[in-house]
Amino acid sequence: MTDHDLDFGGLLPARQRNLLIGGAWTPAASGGRLEVHDPADESVITDVADGTTDDAVAALDAAVAAQHDWARTPPRERGEILRRAFEIIVDRADDFARIISLEMGKTLAEAKGEVAYGAEFFRWFSEEAVRIHGRWMHAPAGGSRLLTIRKPVGPCLFLTPWNFPIAMGTRKIGPAVAAGCTMVVKPAELTPLTMLALAGVMAEAGLPDGVLNVVTTHDSAALSRTLMADPRLRKVSFTGSTPVGRILVEQSAGQLQRVSMELGGNAPFLVFDDADVDAAVDGAMVAKMRNMGEACTAANRFLVHRAVADEFGRKLGERMGALRLGRGQDDGVDVGPLINGAAVESVGGLVREAVGAGARVVTGGTPPDGPGHFYPPTVLLDVPVGARIAEEEIFGPVAPITTFDTEEEAVAQANASEYGLTSYVYTRDLARTIRMAEALEFGMVGVNTGLVSNPAAPFGGVKASGYGREGGFEGIDEYLETTYVSLPG
Ligand code: NAD
Repeated sequence: MTDHDLDFGGLLPARQRNLLIGGAWTPAASGGRLEVHDPADESVITDVADGTTDDAVAALDAAVAAQHDWARTPPRERGEILRRAFEIIVDRADDFARIISLEMGKTLAEAKGEVAYGAEFFRWFSEEAVRIHGRWMHAPAGGSRLLTIRKPVGPCLFLTPWNFPIAMGTRKIGPAVAAGCTMVVKPAELTPLTMLALAGVMAEAGLPDGVLNVVTTHDSAALSRTLMADPRLRKVSFTGSTPVGRILVEQSAGQLQRVSMELGGNAPFLVFDDADVDAAVDGAMVAKMRNMGEACTAANRFLVHRAVADEFGRKLGERMGALRLGRGQDDGVDVGPLINGAAVESVGGLVREAVGAGARVVTGGTPPDGPGHFYPPTVLLDVPVGARIAEEEIFGPVAPITTFDTEEEAVAQANASEYGLTSYVYTRDLARTIRMAEALEFGMVGVNTGLVSNPAAPFGGVKASGYGREGGFEGIDEYLETTYVSLPG
């Protein structure tokens, strides 16, 4: 690939494959570079700056310097910057999709879907920027008036994962910009290009220098340790795995930073015997195969009533088996590669163990020879309750099916997980729908749908899936503090 091809129509010129600090594209202090690989053939696409902790501190310096004026910028102005950025992204959707597909592996069609979804957070929060308000009330006993003011939290650190390189960024940047916070963004080292392109768009949309700083690095742990020890950093928002989330929460104790944690999931997908099985298979394809299963919302455990399990498994197997594996940018490809060799190894290990414990392979199960990190869409029937594949996040295109006989059993199995992000229920019974919404210990419940993500909805989990919400009316609260003013009268 030539340097010109990598320009992506001007979205990512060579100078932008650097750090963004205080509005200037800057090489790493050490001069180090970080290679970016194509997961479809393991080739090197390009490289970006490998930032050091000194670079990270310089980025925080820039964010701190910009915070005062940014907080005082009229909300309408902040909203209009987001609105302009939304429009540019939509305009440049094809180029963004090419970058995402190339560095992350998903198909171009899926990448376009992610761009549209990611851009919508900017549109949503452009509309929320002007609706930040406090309240005025009389103390119940009289004698004083209670006033509240909402203020930006202050400089933030954002750590984002590789699986949705634009959307996991806009979900944090959008509300932070709307609220008047400045930020240092550290994208995943496997997919840094999308964030660098996005940062260029934000500048084009009029975001002042220093409000958004980007540091790419291979050493995320050192960066977060350094910045989180700094009392000027007031907030950390992290999307990624639960073990890393736990480290960050512990780290936040030193300076008592506010934290939002969007962590792993282990979504149950319940199909009751009164469900429309064909609709459930349609929903399962979305819930399982979005992003090749590399999504925190991915259906991880299919819990199906015994009466419909064989029919559901057979139909899902036919649909999954018909998907074409290949390079995400090629025509006719339905399923791209996984992110790296470790991902293929991990998914393969879970499948081998489940089969060893008695699961039947309906389709898939054997990865093709390299190059590229491919794993075929796989359906497993009769997966024993308690199998490791049902307890861990698979993060790949594998659908393990376990049967149940009663609603109580289904709920108990669904809730028997340390995670609590997304759950899915297929039923035509309204009373059961309501019982499920109340009984399932998850931040989100999809009813007769395989897709819950929506910028206008509060996305987030409970238990080991973390805390805090992104999107919806709740999303901006993560970036606002409340000051209470007591007035006499
Ligand atoms: P990850 O935890 O390995 O990495 C996430 C980010 O944290 C990356 O930027 C990485 O560089 C950084 N990081 C890694 N180790 C770190 C450390 N010790 N200190 C500081 N930063 C560190 O996760 P991943 O593999 O990139 O993403 C997959 C995970 O993300 C899955 O568990 C998935 O469920 C989760 N996820 C959750 C949501 C959600 O909204 N709940 C959304 C997408 C992905």
